Amino acid sequence: MTSTRATIRYGEMKSLLTDAHVLTMDDAGTELEAAWILVEDGLVAAVGTGEEPEADERAGLGGAVVTPGLVNTHHHLYQTLTRARGQQATLFEWLVELYPTWARIDAEAEYAAARTGIAELMLSGCTTVFDHHYVFPRGRTGLVEAEVQAARELGCRLVASRGSMDLGVADGGLPPDELVEEIDAVLADTERLVGELHETGPGARIQIAVAPCSPFSVTGRLMTESAELARRLGLNLHTHLAETVEEEAYCQELYGCTPVEYLDSLGWLDGDVWCAHCVHLSPPEIARFAESGTGVAHCPTSNLRLGAGVAPVQAMTEAGVRVGLGVDGSASNERSHLFNDVKQALLVARGRGGPTAMTARDAIRLGTRGGASVLGRDDIGAIAPGMCADLAVWATDGLALAGAADPVAGLVFAGADRVDRLYVGGELVVQGGALVRADETEIARAHRAQASRFAP
Ligand SMILES: [Zn+2]
Repeated sequence: MTSTRATIRYGEMKSLLTDAHVLTMDDAGTELEAAWILVEDGLVAAVGTGEEPEADERAGLGGAVVTPGLVNTHHHLYQTLTRARGQQATLFEWLVELYPTWARIDAEAEYAAARTGIAELMLSGCTTVFDHHYVFPRGRTGLVEAEVQAARELGCRLVASRGSMDLGVADGGLPPDELVEEIDAVLADTERLVGELHETGPGARIQIAVAPCSPFSVTGRLMTESAELARRLGLNLHTHLAETVEEEAYCQELYGCTPVEYLDSLGWLDGDVWCAHCVHLSPPEIARFAESGTGVAHCPTSNLRLGAGVAPVQAMTEAGVRVGLGVDGSASNERSHLFNDVKQALLVARGRGGPTAMTARDAIRLGTRGGASVLGRDDIGAIAPGMCADLAVWATDGLALAGAADPVAGLVFAGADRVDRLYVGGELVVQGGALVRADETEIARAHRAQASRFAP
């Protein structure tokens, strides 16, 4: 893989990638060996085997595995600033410990955090990043804009969110009162960001989702009005749900029902909604998710790190629930490495359901097509004519895959360390395992300077 340096550039030229093992992620799970992919105008123009089409540029991939770019469906980029805290805490203890520190966030720190998290995600094969930002200290501006700037500079797609919290300690919620906002201010700022940043249609680079934080930090009124706003503006809706047993007990005490029943009562469960975690879902609740079209962001590493449990993903996918993968916040999964969560999803599924519970290809499907479906996107997540040319190229000639007869299974079982190349809309943004548009050493240095302001 090191002998051929790609020269494909974003633009109107026809570019051909050859000698690839392509996972198309179509409905049938078609894989093509010794295949080529033709890229034009940022889209996949054709994919096939045998006689190669004409092209302005060509790059040989040396038999590498090519998957659709991975799609991250849950994250909190700002949390890279506060890693390795609350090391033995439950979710609620961890949140209470970290909220006061997070209250110091500003645009400068958010930008450094976003560059770090997005760079890590891209180096792990991710081309579309969803970020759930819900910490908006009063008077602090430019936080979502800082994330958007970082994504544009590094070259990935971003679904940012205008999250929110309005249920503080004084009203029976978990976050400190200094971190909760007024409902009208939340909704007005969401609408402002949508007007300024949200793109629609195929190939959208920047989108906004409406994402109140969780049942234990947001009032029912804000949940309901957020859903009304999202549906009026045609946006998707997201929140945390059923992450821990403590959350279930909290909902039972405050609302007299489970978290899922609570969300359902607010009119949330629908095809424009996806929820993070869903670790504690009963069989009837899984059926309700399937019937309503509600999606799930499965975050296995974070769930293990916080001792929250393991989501019943096999039961969900068998029921027809849309499921994608998320690394979740960098303070509860200290890596923003999405391919690691492809491997982790396979391992935890097998831990629950035995060795046949999930195949390596199923795990990659969750991280690509599944994630695209969860974000409501049909222009990414698969390699087919007309789809965005978002491609992750995985070298198969390194130490970890030596002796792996099946390179696709080898990648998942071993866990790929870094993507070799990454294309977003046909543009090469990672080459030879390094960012094309930025220097990761400089990103890490700038991040350390910002993170020092949040030291315990
Ligand atoms: Zn989260």
